[in-house]
Amino acid sequence: MAEDLTTPLLSDSEVPSEVPAEAPALKTSPTVAILGSGDFSRSLAVRLVACGVRVVVGSRCVNRIPSGLFPDAVELRNQEGAVSQAGCLVFMALFPEHYHSLLGLQSALAGKVLVDVSNAAEMNNHGPSNAERLAELFPDSLVVKGFNMVSTWELQTGAHDGSRQVLICSNSTEGKRKVVELARQMGFHPVDMGGLSAAREIEVAPLRLFPSWSGSIVVTFLLFLFFYGYGFLRGILLPFLAQGHNAFYRLALGLVNESLPAVALVTLALVYFPGLFAAWLQLWKGTKYQRFPSWLDNWLQRRKQLGLLSFLCATLHGVYSLCQPLRRITLYRLVNTAYRQVKAGVEEPWDEVGVWRSELYLSCGVLGLGVLSLLAITSLPSVGNTLNWREFTFVQSGLGYIALTLSIMHTLFFGWDFTFHIEAYPFYMPPSYVLAVVLPCIILVCRCFLLLPCISTRLTRIRRGWESKRNCPVLQHHHVANRIP
Ligand code: NAP
Repeated sequence: MAEDLTTPLLSDSEVPSEVPAEAPALKTSPTVAILGSGDFSRSLAVRLVACGVRVVVGSRCVNRIPSGLFPDAVELRNQEGAVSQAGCLVFMALFPEHYHSLLGLQSALAGKVLVDVSNAAEMNNHGPSNAERLAELFPDSLVVKGFNMVSTWELQTGAHDGSRQVLICSNSTEGKRKVVELARQMGFHPVDMGGLSAAREIEVAPLRLFPSWSGSIVVTFLLFLFFYGYGFLRGILLPFLAQGHNAFYRLALGLVNESLPAVALVTLALVYFPGLFAAWLQLWKGTKYQRFPSWLDNWLQRRKQLGLLSFLCATLHGVYSLCQPLRRITLYRLVNTAYRQVKAGVEEPWDEVGVWRSELYLSCGVLGLGVLSLLAITSLPSVGNTLNWREFTFVQSGLGYIALTLSIMHTLFFGWDFTFHIEAYPFYMPPSYVLAVVLPCIILVCRCFLLLPCISTRLTRIRRGWESKRNCPVLQHHHVANRIP
């Protein structure tokens, strides 16, 4: 590991494309100082050296740093020496609780840009951010928050792999400009987040666990719990209590495979529900210039995650279904049916309707899963970015509704006429797929209404900026002005 770190990851022939051709050569580049000689310091030094930047590392105890830990081009000094060698940029690669130990360097650090790379220790810190505290400790320096979301691994792989965004904020425009330039030179994409007050948000960002996914995951999980619990009650527990019929073996595979398609279908419907609701809201209000309620805004932003989770459930359902022939119970039923037919003297057990049913529902299921896969692939930023707005809308909305329709047909063909038999409702409880298909059908019908020319024309006009008379501020103003004598 130590040897790896001494070798720059990028050879001369592999200088990142973001590095401008006129990148300053090693000898002319202003020296960047890094205070602290830990993991972050080492990775940052390796990356800077690979980009042709002169680096000096300042440590409390230089002698303690094992030889070969930093690349040869890096100068190792004590903290005072490193600061005096620094051009204007000084990275604080130590934990915030140790910032005060540098107070003796206050005058040496005056006028320099201090880059605070620290992360928050906990999510709910209501006090000032680490960067703001650093700015209080060193009022004559320019404090810039940045690079904290970049891990040591990403620092070393830099332009090739990993996240390339570097969020930056500061109250000093000059300090921010210098850090932005350096981040670009290192092959990262700096993103200006504004003043130093944004530092708290940037510091907690690495601590968040799937911030944009949590709501969608919770909804999908709750739906799964509902369908699994409902299936357990209807198909296992109540028959066991009423007739002593033991079907608990279905808990592991059968019931899971019964719940997954129901969850996939409802989740897919939830992807299209907020868009429809928003359209009806715009039609009702006669304007697109009134903000949606925040819950709807939130929901609209989570459609991609819901769609991907629906795809996950549908794929799992596909895999589980492929495993069906491997089940012992399938083998048992096959042999048992054959035995009973032989015993009853049935010579031609061909069931034309049953064959058509299975052909149709399997075909719709496979096609639906195929279209869903296409949607999932186009939701990847690298693929989505290659599509123009019309293409993206066609795929996500047009193909999305096709996937929803195919999934509904898959379910309806699966239910066939059995849905209308009284035996399908033991204990007055409908099968899971009947419950699952209700919302998607409503969504599809509402969508069809939106396609009616009288409605779609009005909606298109609203989305191009037209407003009904009761909402148009210019007209109202005009009306009021006309009444003034
Ligand atoms: P680390 O490996 O523990 O290094 C911290 C360095 O701080 C030590 O090597 C030491 O350098 C110095 N130090 C330790 N105790 C000190 C004290 N009492 N007074 C003054 N200096 C002291 O930690 P790290 O992982 O490099 O993290 C450093 C900073 O980078 C943290 O704020 C962290 O949040 C941030 N960060 C780290 C990562 C990561 O992936 N590791 C990613 C993003 C941000 P000397 O002994 O040479 O003085």
